[in-house]
Amino acid sequence: MSRYIESVCKLCRREQTKLFLKGDKCYTKCVLEKRPTTPGMAKPQRGKPSAFAIRLREKQKLRRLISMNERPFERLVAEASKAREASGDHLLRALELRLDNVVRRMGVATSLKTARQLVKHGHVKVDGRTVSIPSYPVKPGQTIALTPKLKENVGVKLSLDTSKRISGRPTFIEFNEEQMTAKLTRIPERTEMSFPVTEQLIIEYYSK
Ligand code: SF4
Repeated sequence: MSRYIESVCKLCRREQTKLFLKGDKCYTKCVLEKRPTTPGMAKPQRGKPSAFAIRLREKQKLRRLISMNERPFERLVAEASKAREASGDHLLRALELRLDNVVRRMGVATSLKTARQLVKHGHVKVDGRTVSIPSYPVKPGQTIALTPKLKENVGVKLSLDTSKRISGRPTFIEFNEEQMTAKLTRIPERTEMSFPVTEQLIIEYYSK
């Protein structure tokens, strides 16, 4: 599996939007605000982008938001296109309800990368059982709990503080800070999801 090792801020500059890949820094010292140019280009590009370029950029934006490689992302889109409901809705819901994303939205991690690390290192339990698979699909009614020792973790405390001050917590997650547990109460609406993309363009990109 290939791993991106360059500065993640370059990805935001490439997509010309904040992807929130660096945790707390994204809310305080965002590089994109200081350097809004596309990497490798001193001036903004002239001319209208082609329909293909628009769809490609939308697909890349979502893939980078969730830090996923092309192959697994392509598989997810293929699964979504077989679903009975609208493919775009199915795709975004599957991504929103991944365990790593739910942990991030609980407010205990400011970036998806940190949330994924918490899951992979076995700090997260779903309905009392340790789950270390970031892509695990969380279902409504399930309870997610963090191991008690994380209550004193500096990174987790900082994230909880940021979540209270800036990002907030969605209403479909019922969070108990005392016990460090959260319950997914329902399936989120499209407007409550964390992906500012036009999903239809992504589906069109793959259906060419
Ligand atoms: Fe993107 Fe965060 Fe870097 Fe800003 S600080 S460019 S939002 S990764």
